[in-house]
Amino acid sequence: MRVVDSHMSLSRLNRIQPTSLLGTSRTSLSLLLNRRGESSYRGDQIFRWIHERREADFQAMSDLPASLRASLARDYTVARPQVAGRSQAGDGTSKWVLRLADGAEIETVFIPYAHRLTLCVSSQVGCAFGCTFCATAAMGRVRDLTAAEIIGQVLTLLEGHEVAPDRRFNIVFMGMGEPLDNFDEVMTAFDILTDPLGAGLSWRRITLSTVGHVDGIRRLGARQHRPRLAVSLNATTDLLRGRIMPINKKWPLAVLRQAMADFPVRPGERITCEYVLMAGETDDCEDARRLARFLHGLPARLNLIPWNPSPGLPHARPDDATIERFRDALLRRGLDASIRFSRGGEAAAACGQLVTSRDASPWRQHS
Ligand code: SF4
Repeated sequence: MRVVDSHMSLSRLNRIQPTSLLGTSRTSLSLLLNRRGESSYRGDQIFRWIHERREADFQAMSDLPASLRASLARDYTVARPQVAGRSQAGDGTSKWVLRLADGAEIETVFIPYAHRLTLCVSSQVGCAFGCTFCATAAMGRVRDLTAAEIIGQVLTLLEGHEVAPDRRFNIVFMGMGEPLDNFDEVMTAFDILTDPLGAGLSWRRITLSTVGHVDGIRRLGARQHRPRLAVSLNATTDLLRGRIMPINKKWPLAVLRQAMADFPVRPGERITCEYVLMAGETDDCEDARRLARFLHGLPARLNLIPWNPSPGLPHARPDDATIERFRDALLRRGLDASIRFSRGGEAAAACGQLVTSRDASPWRQHS
């Protein structure tokens, strides 16, 4: 794995690299311009260039004075991460491997549907939470991503797929890492993506998925402007959930359920509950009964996700009949449950398959 594994190396690098403005909010940009003796409206102008017009060269920002363009180019950058690899599945889903300024690599997935477009972005390099069904867990936690690196993923994929600036898209924080473990940077990126002078996405188009970081869920609920919440549940007993998702030892099911019950959903909004079906582990009738009891009374809808095989991980996908039987058992109990077949499986770009290890990731054969 060719990643740089310490904050020290990143900060050392930052001393010699210009600071990226990709993750700077409009307010901060105006303050920055003020400190350089410029009017605040220059901040709005530059923000528009970066996020609405997706301009990657200060010299092309034609309504800025030449002296300002030159000084910005000297002190800052709006460069995108380097593309280290790309693979595409037959369903059009493509996985991009992006190399950051310190050499760390992350993966971001572009998922085109018939009438919508979704980008699955990473929030950390690797992950500390150790879920046994997830390929990213094998990397361990390397470091958090900055807001600039999160926005850099979005811009790189939009440009790489030539998505028109006026085309709406969705973002899911379901890539590498636990987004609530990197709360501030993820929220800064969310604020930038929803800024009306930038991409102008509605909060409805952005979903943050957590494995049950209860402190983070409560912190998110306290925020007025926030993305949709998805909770990855995956087991209905503390014994099993603690075994496959170590976070459950800190925040067991009852504590997680209370946090979901307290979450202040907006009118028409529901929490998405994700449940991975693993053969012989999470897919029997008792699981369905306990799952229905867990969700009863919560403002939630349920997505059942058949396990996506990943090399070396100790789980199996149930057969189709079992998957449908499980879904039907929930429907009979009055639950709103749908089966989501993850896209991008053959490019190792589906849920739980993201890992930047040259050995474990089959995309490398195609890059
Ligand atoms: S599922 Fe999410 S939280 Fe769990 S190890 Fe993978 S990236 Fe981390």
